[in-house]
Amino acid sequence: MTQEKHAFQAEVSQVLDIVVNALYSHSEIFLRELISNASDACDKLRYAALTHPDLMKEHGSFEIKLIPNKSEKTLSVIDNGIGMNKEELIEDLGTIAKSGSAEFAKHLTGDAKKDLALIGQFGVGFYSAFMVADKVEVLTRKAGDKTGWLWCSSGKGEFTIEEESKAVVGTKITLHLKKDFMEYTDPMRLRYVIRQYSDHISIPIILDADGKNETINSASALWTRPKSEITEEQYRDFYRHLTHNFDEPWLTLHYTAEGVIEYRALLFIPQKAPFDLFQPDKKHALNLYVNRVFISDEVTDLLPHYFRFVRGIIDTSELPLNVSREMLQHTPVLAKIKKGIVHRLLDELKKKATDKENYEVFWRDFGIVFKEGLYEDQENAKKIADLCLFSSTKDDKLTSFADYVARMPKEQKNIYYLTGDDLATLKNNPQLEGFTARGIEVLLLTDPIDEFWPQMFTEYDGKKIRPITHPDVDIDKVKAIEEITGESIEENLQTVLIAKFKEVLGKEVNDIKITNRLNKSPVALVAGEGQMSIHLERLMKQHGQAQAFASNRTLELNPRHPVIKKLATAIFEKKEEAKVLDAIWVLYDQARAIEGEPLRDPAGFIAKVNNFLESGL
Ligand code: ADP
Ligand code: MG
Repeated sequence: MTQEKHAFQAEVSQVLDIVVNALYSHSEIFLRELISNASDACDKLRYAALTHPDLMKEHGSFEIKLIPNKSEKTLSVIDNGIGMNKEELIEDLGTIAKSGSAEFAKHLTGDAKKDLALIGQFGVGFYSAFMVADKVEVLTRKAGDKTGWLWCSSGKGEFTIEEESKAVVGTKITLHLKKDFMEYTDPMRLRYVIRQYSDHISIPIILDADGKNETINSASALWTRPKSEITEEQYRDFYRHLTHNFDEPWLTLHYTAEGVIEYRALLFIPQKAPFDLFQPDKKHALNLYVNRVFISDEVTDLLPHYFRFVRGIIDTSELPLNVSREMLQHTPVLAKIKKGIVHRLLDELKKKATDKENYEVFWRDFGIVFKEGLYEDQENAKKIADLCLFSSTKDDKLTSFADYVARMPKEQKNIYYLTGDDLATLKNNPQLEGFTARGIEVLLLTDPIDEFWPQMFTEYDGKKIRPITHPDVDIDKVKAIEEITGESIEENLQTVLIAKFKEVLGKEVNDIKITNRLNKSPVALVAGEGQMSIHLERLMKQHGQAQAFASNRTLELNPRHPVIKKLATAIFEKKEEAKVLDAIWVLYDQARAIEGEPLRDPAGFIAKVNNFLESGL
């Protein structure tokens, strides 16, 4: 038979370099990966046979076999699953099909342990075989095909493929073990590793050693066992198997729903966000089973988008086993299950939120996604809001809406917030001055999503949720401005002041107004009424959606600030015209800079400031 040589895709070579050369403390995970692939292959054949029964005409029951061979220094992992044809061998074991391959390379840290965890997450599990083997052979035949194929590689840049007519349906992977890994020919060691990592695999795993066959996993789908019989370790191992993570789940939720709709759920929330949480093309789905038969891991309709970090399985008897893709798209069953899952998850999060410190672990990584529920899920928005945490001007701790409301002075009518890129800048925003001086707490929001949810979720507990720049903000009711800061300039001075600013700044701003929201600062720039906030506009610009939205800004003047007072007098008396002009531009640039906007003309700005310094010194 002729042998074909193929080169690995560059990313695969990179992955292989890592697994071949590094020494890992968890070398045994290669077994978890190979067994998980074998189990997937059996699931796939079982599912395919539902519509094409002849695929399994002469097929015995599904099993995964481990055959260690001390004298040959090999370990074989054999399954009678779907197998691979030639094209699939080249595609599946020569490239990284997932869109994440380039992404993977970006995430490599050089820290062997972290990189290994990444390998699991990026679904390059098969290549982990090269951690323990210097040569790997894959003998496989696809169910329904007449011939099989032998794939062979030593993990260095290339692999070979040749036809092998004697292959039976399924896949046999033979690892030629490196001399440091002879432990994987030891039945004791294999038994131990399988129990630790693969006990819940629903297909029997048979160890074929010393002339004996022995089933070494308990082979019952974990979720079908009663909760009381499952240990925390078993849940953890199942979670690791499912997510390829190495940590503990942050939340484990296992229940059986009866009544309106019957299903079992075993759901997890990880401790940490996966790297691809925000990748738009990433499918986030639970695994769907019908009566313990795996159906699909691509049913995205089981979770709302804002719960996309939840992982797990759903097993229901309300769908037929041979359910088709089209049917999955139209059945009301999934919508009902989804509704049930959402309720359970929200209830569970509520319980978890009582332990604030632990809840913040969740919030730090997933709050940004979870908040999408505030506008995505009208029906549950209040429950979601009760689970949200925010930074605020009160202190460095996170606060809930409920705690915020409980602290509101009784004259305060609204819940106030301010959006921006980061906390440090937000805290220095001059527009907070009037609020802080009146003892009014303001939520400080720094996630891009925070620009959007307040447009849909506008009220909590009867209080309107308002940006501090909102025209309806009436904070003088809480405390009059006169009680806080000095006298304002007279109205006639205000009029000439505004007129002059308008004349000088022209089209730069849409409007000029006197404000009572500033305390220590002379000026501030705010979005005009009904306009998107300056922060949102900047976000849009970053995404290349600038001009269409260019909003009109209002420049607010603090009529109690000494600089504004002097300026008003000078304008009124028509003195120092050149200085007045410079001062107006400097003030305007100040206001822009504080909003995080670039100076229009840095050199000009600095020259003007230096002039003022000089005359002041
Ligand atoms: P993943 O399992 O995340 O897809 P792997 O690197 O573990 O990534 O496997 C790559 C692909 O190779 C699998 O998706 C599957 O198509 C194929 N494959 C691996 N092992 C087997 C097997 N034992 N039987 C059939 N197909 C397999
Ligand atoms: Mg795999």
